[in-house]
Amino acid sequence: DLYRAADGRYDSMEYRRTGRSGLKLPAVSLGLWHNFGDDRTLDSQRAILRRAFDLGITHFDLANNYGPPYGAAEANFGTLFAQDFRPYRDELVISTKAGYDMWPGPYGEWGSRKYLLASLDQSLGRMGLDYVDIFYSHRFDPETPLEETMGALATAVQQGKALYVGISSYGPDRTREAARILREMGVPALIHQPSYSMINRWIEDEGLLDVLAEEGMGCIGFVPLAQGLLTDRYLNGIPQGSRAAQGKSLDPALVNEETTARLRALNDVAAARGQSLAQLALSWVLRDPRVTSALIGASSVAQLEANVAAVGAAPLTAEELAEIDRHAVE
Ligand code: NDP
Repeated sequence: DLYRAADGRYDSMEYRRTGRSGLKLPAVSLGLWHNFGDDRTLDSQRAILRRAFDLGITHFDLANNYGPPYGAAEANFGTLFAQDFRPYRDELVISTKAGYDMWPGPYGEWGSRKYLLASLDQSLGRMGLDYVDIFYSHRFDPETPLEETMGALATAVQQGKALYVGISSYGPDRTREAARILREMGVPALIHQPSYSMINRWIEDEGLLDVLAEEGMGCIGFVPLAQGLLTDRYLNGIPQGSRAAQGKSLDPALVNEETTARLRALNDVAAARGQSLAQLALSWVLRDPRVTSALIGASSVAQLEANVAAVGAAPLTAEELAEIDRHAVE
């Protein structure tokens, strides 16, 4: 069946400016780390992507090794892009990354120019795209000069293979340094992609958010739902089919008595304001205007819809924030 995007797709999503750039991102963006590999049907992937775009999610985030197997998420996205989304290319912000383990040998991971530019070409090939909107260095490489890694990002832009560049999980000092190097190369650092959630506040504690504001960079926070912990999925144990049950990246040992008690208390805070725990978790991440977008995953259309419904919720009160801190911070 031919896909035609919903007419009202821009009616309710909120779009936030990415740092001091010209680019806006949706308050909720969709990541393809899980649920878009060859372990999931193309039909389920198609349904999630279509619904996301219909709900105003203009930003899809990928990386070279998302799968399983490595590369599969980009290849599956490429298939669906060709079938459904090609007419909407100019309405989409598509990102990919290189930094983690991708192919064997010394040129298949970390931060060399050799790896980053070869990886970007491979990613474009798998997705069937001429360019990505954002190309990221996925992690800081302590053994490669930062000038080389940032130089590779700048080259990607100069070659027209990326419109903007970003960095992921770099600490505050490295971020400042990366921003300076890129600025000198005439390619601004658009955005940082760090982990961030009610139960993972390192970007506040280590001052990264302050650095991003000073440098005029945006911030897109990944795993805002703590891989599903900050949802109703694990309030009563580990359900079948969940990420923790499948022994994927979420360690089932995290779902213990103590954590579950804290999650239930947070769930009560959410319920008192008419939200689900997932919605509260997203409202919390988005309460800071320096956060451009919350980068979620979803294994079903229903999860996606529930999460997007957090956009436009009432702001958190001082009492609610304090109550969240009581239960979320150890
Ligand atoms: P989330 O914290 O949003 O977790 C998503 C998972 O939570 C879903 O797969 C689902 O798990 C569960 N979930 C989501 N919504 C609901 C809901 N409403 N009710 C119940 N359960 C729900 O983030 P992800 O871990 O998926 O990561 C998001 C994105 O962040 C990635 O796709 C990637 O783009 C990016 N990322 C970047 C990294 C980096 O190094 N830059 C590292 C990690 C992620 P279930 O499968 O159990 O249903």
